[in-house]
Amino acid sequence: MKYIQEPSKKIPVMAETDVLVVGSGPSGLSAAIASAREGVDTMLVERYGCFGGNITQAMVESIGWYRHEGTVESEGIGLEFEAQTRQFGGERKEPQSISQVLEADIFKCVSDKMVEEAGIYKFLHCLGVEALSEGDRITGVITESKEGRQAILAKRVIDCTGDADIAFRAGAACNKAPRNKLEGVSVSFGCSGVNRDRFLEYIKKNPGNLGQWASQTAGKEENLFSPYLCEPFAKARQNGEIPENVLTGGYWSSLTDTGEATYLNMVYMLGLDPTDLKDLTFAEIEGRKQAMLAIKALRKYTPGFENARLRTFGSSLGTRESRKIEGRHSMTGDEVKNQAKFEDSIGIFPEFLDAYGVVIIPTTGRYFQVPYGIMVPKEIDNLLVAGRCVSGDRISHAALRQMMCCTVTGQGAGVAAAVSVKDGVPTGEVNIDHVQKALKKQGVRIN
Ligand SMILES: Cc1cc2nc3c(=O)[nH]c(=O)nc-3n(C[C@H](O)[C@H](O)[C@H](O)COP(=O)(O)OP(=O)(O)OC[C@H]3O[C@@H](n4cnc5c(N)ncnc54)[C@H](O)[C@@H]3O)c2cc1C
Repeated sequence: MKYIQEPSKKIPVMAETDVLVVGSGPSGLSAAIASAREGVDTMLVERYGCFGGNITQAMVESIGWYRHEGTVESEGIGLEFEAQTRQFGGERKEPQSISQVLEADIFKCVSDKMVEEAGIYKFLHCLGVEALSEGDRITGVITESKEGRQAILAKRVIDCTGDADIAFRAGAACNKAPRNKLEGVSVSFGCSGVNRDRFLEYIKKNPGNLGQWASQTAGKEENLFSPYLCEPFAKARQNGEIPENVLTGGYWSSLTDTGEATYLNMVYMLGLDPTDLKDLTFAEIEGRKQAMLAIKALRKYTPGFENARLRTFGSSLGTRESRKIEGRHSMTGDEVKNQAKFEDSIGIFPEFLDAYGVVIIPTTGRYFQVPYGIMVPKEIDNLLVAGRCVSGDRISHAALRQMMCCTVTGQGAGVAAAVSVKDGVPTGEVNIDHVQKALKKQGVRIN
């Protein structure tokens, strides 16, 4: 590769804050709200034009699809997301659980409101590009925006970028599976013009189940209903209308009374790295092509979709897995599956796993505790990492990446960062009793 030397220059300090959160998905939103509620100055920066991460950008509305009668739920800001969406009139049933969906556009307004009510200082259209450090402590972040390159100085930084962008730039140890082992990326889309009654009648006669697509379950999941469609794509492939290995199946989610399928997750592309620019570009364009093929197949082979049309694409490619930090504790699949307990627990999460073909649904009330240590990079102080890039092995990621679990790590990181500022100790030495006490006050279940 050819290199040039970029001339060094002074850049303006655009802001100073106690806690800076970079990225505003389920983890970042929860981190910023939790930190602000502890009474410290909190700033949230997001590279796109809305908060919400995958929920608003990739239209992933199914935050609670695991929830059944026996589920023991994490409590905290994630449940507030659902309650607030209900208040906004965005309530629609998720088809395979006792939960409701968070519709993408409604959730944009919900998160605007929650961020404003919490008194968070915020910037949209602002990309965190570099970490500022003194010795082994992070001291802020360099951002790029239409205003150019600027610095935000912060006593504590929480990386909620999904890709551990800031931790990686700060020099924290990160790992990333090779392309062929990473989870797939998706272009989500929605359709209008669906005959809801006709489609639901077809589903009633041809119900999908989890056993159709999961390669490993705990047994009890096999016959649970799943809104997973294979038939239209199999027929289109048979008839040479879809290439082999493309669109092997996919999910429908909620349907409006006016015939809109708001979130169709039917494009799943493997072998791509969400931190590689060429892969991202390819995936956006290829994903749209595949979505159009999916709509053709739905129109031709799915009763109720005969007159369906493209309604919307997610505003960004949806990504599931890339870098993860190597933290003070690395969570294991065994811990997740065996109701692990930790002295530094910052919350709980039901035994819900979904990734790499492994699916366990929390129908039995089992849950595990989420340790603070998975958010603490080994080398860099005053930096915490929440969301899907926390520290853990492949199978633990099948649980930790779930949006509701990302709200647990987000809220835990937000409170821990704020408590460490108030107590005047670095995040690596924060008093976990103080953190747990503050979390409980915020309504979080610790054990
Ligand atoms: C198609 C699809 C379907 C899924 N289905 C489900 C499901 O049904 N249930 C479930 O629980 N999970 C599901 N997931 C997984 C889930 O969406 C993610 O694991 C979760 O959203 C991760 O949350 P996060 O906060 O870590 O990151 P994200 O939601 O990815 O949010 C990261 C945010 O940070 C911003 N950002 C990134 N880099 C920077 C930067 N350098 N500077 C500033 N901002 C930055 C992004 O724009 C984004 O807003 C799905 C994922 C996909 C793609």
